[in-house]
Amino acid sequence: MMRALTGREILHIWEVGQGQHPLDRAMTMLHVAFPEATRDDLVLLTIGQRDTRLLALREQTFGTRLSSLAICPACQGQVEFTLNTSDMRTSMDIEPSVEVQQMTVDGYEVHFRLPNSVDLSTLVGYSDVAQARQLLLSRCIVQASKDGIAVNVEDLPETIAEALAAQMDERDPQAEMELDLKCAACGHHWQVLFDIVSFFWTEIAIYAKRLLGEVHILAQVYGWRELDILSMSALRRQFYLEMVTDG
Ligand SMILES: [Zn+2]
Repeated sequence: MMRALTGREILHIWEVGQGQHPLDRAMTMLHVAFPEATRDDLVLLTIGQRDTRLLALREQTFGTRLSSLAICPACQGQVEFTLNTSDMRTSMDIEPSVEVQQMTVDGYEVHFRLPNSVDLSTLVGYSDVAQARQLLLSRCIVQASKDGIAVNVEDLPETIAEALAAQMDERDPQAEMELDLKCAACGHHWQVLFDIVSFFWTEIAIYAKRLLGEVHILAQVYGWRELDILSMSALRRQFYLEMVTDG
């Protein structure tokens, strides 16, 4: 069962995550929430499983409501939108899947597994999308054949590569969370991909800085230690802060 991150944990994640790539930040967040899991357990989760866990952790920590801003591609106006985490969760399956999947299209039979964080980390630095996709497929395809004869990954036709990419999305739906947005000013409709890692990270950074500000005020006024202030419930901390700032 997922629980909320404590103030101390949020500060820890923020501190460690500062200099990290988003893929590693995601692992830092999950490692705090699942201390019993090894790093290997976590990096081998499919991206959809990783994001399902992050979404649940976000829900426990900051609530079910998500608010964000987007820029309308038609009129460049700012569009504010609010979502509920339960609307975004397509699957409650958070058990790691290392299972080999199978797809048969146009006589091609492909055995593959779903991309995980290790796969994505090998793509870091590739700016060429086609090249990156080729690399991802070569990592995730376990075996490919046509009419029973083995085929090299690089020899697969474009249509098969595309079909496989679509199959991967379909079988790991949480990996790509697509949002439908509508601009109230001009009526334009469009879709954006929601990235839970960067969204949650931004919230964690804001919260961490606010928390440090609160520690600063309370330590200055009362002379309490950082650890004691962080160990208080948010409610109790807020109460003291109000007295300090009201006075
Ligand atoms: Zn617009």
